[in-house]
Amino acid sequence: MRFFHDQSGILHAENVSLAEVAQDVGTPVYVYSAGALRAAAREFRAGLHGIARKHIAFAVKANPNVAVLHLLGNEGFGADIVSDGEMRQALAGGMRAEDMMFSGVGKTDGEMIAALDAGVGQFNLELEAEGVLLSSLAQARGKRACAVLRINPDVAAGTHPKISAGRSANKFGVPVGEAGAVYRRLAQLPGLDLRGIALHIGSQIGDLALLEDAYRAAGAFVRALRAEGHSVTHVDLGGGLGVAYHSAEHFPAPAAYGAMVQRVTRDWDVTLMFEPGRLIAAAAGVLLTRVIWVKPGAECPHVIVDAAMNDLARPALYDAYHHFAAVRPTRHQFGANVAGPVCESGDTFAKARSIDAVTRGDLAVFHTVGAYGASMASTYNSRALVPEVLVDGDRYSVVADRVEQGQALLRQHLPNWLVEHAPA
Ligand SMILES: *Cc1c(COP(=O)(O)O)cnc(C)c1O
Repeated sequence: MRFFHDQSGILHAENVSLAEVAQDVGTPVYVYSAGALRAAAREFRAGLHGIARKHIAFAVKANPNVAVLHLLGNEGFGADIVSDGEMRQALAGGMRAEDMMFSGVGKTDGEMIAALDAGVGQFNLELEAEGVLLSSLAQARGKRACAVLRINPDVAAGTHPKISAGRSANKFGVPVGEAGAVYRRLAQLPGLDLRGIALHIGSQIGDLALLEDAYRAAGAFVRALRAEGHSVTHVDLGGGLGVAYHSAEHFPAPAAYGAMVQRVTRDWDVTLMFEPGRLIAAAAGVLLTRVIWVKPGAECPHVIVDAAMNDLARPALYDAYHHFAAVRPTRHQFGANVAGPVCESGDTFAKARSIDAVTRGDLAVFHTVGAYGASMASTYNSRALVPEVLVDGDRYSVVADRVEQGQALLRQHLPNWLVEHAPA
């Protein structure tokens, strides 16, 4: 956590005091470190140095903030998008359409048309019918759409069931057993330039052997396609590398991942594509929050903070751990629950955990929330949509405003018939 560190007893993001950010912007607020984003992007690229032909695309769903995307675009990253909205985010962040791949199991006609018109570089097809439709949409525009077929290698990702994607029971991709026949039919379509395959078996993966199994299955499939006479020039290896949320966890470094990829793909002779999300952004963000109350509890006190499950959904969704730390730590710790104000027991960030002792009004952070943090935020309980700040050295800027509940109210309407026909 080099980019989030103590200076004179106050937690800083790079050279910016989080106490100052809280005073200036209010809480809760996400704070990202530009240095941490750049470092992660460069470490990932460096890990792949032995791979000559490659394209790295950031999985926008992990953090779609335009400033984050702009920064990663400057690092040479493209974008892995899963919706028209993410395409617009990436374009607004200055990324080029040709550097984007469009993944996702439910692209609508309208989204495919928008992506074709924008010139998105590659469509990752999830089923045969989608390829047929894309071909006809492209043809109608006098284009051929670059595409790869997503295969489902039926391997476990060893991760939380809600973020596992590569088992045959999951909704993603075409089962390898059927993919050969599907590929053969799609390769003949006039509106498609089918140039390879894609896979992505899940997220927060800690065991390289599981990724290696999937990649070997992909390699075997590429050989089978070539034996049939297909030209295969691109293989998209997806994302999924995990990060340590807890100091006791250990995850493979990008260099170890790169070495594995190089070993497994040595004779593939393709352009390899990568779609890291969490690995790039997770450690680059904290959620800054203020303690509202320390409420006595049956077993231990409840630290009630002003951030809630609507701001950071991962604990409620996946029982995820996020390290909680005071901005001005004393040396004292106590056992406590940490929870938000939302009216659900699931709005709990920590249970009976030993944490920095805090009292009403203190500032604290949840660490490792730069990925799947703000991107999953909602306004549940009619709460404000959480703002975001980007720090770079001594500077910082608000890169997403707090959307107050009053603004949300503007989009709601009372029908006349409801108001006029109130019971007498
Ligand atoms: C979510 C997703 C990613 C990114 O996953 P991470 O675990 O964040 O690296 C990449 N590709 C696809 C198709 C995805 O759905």
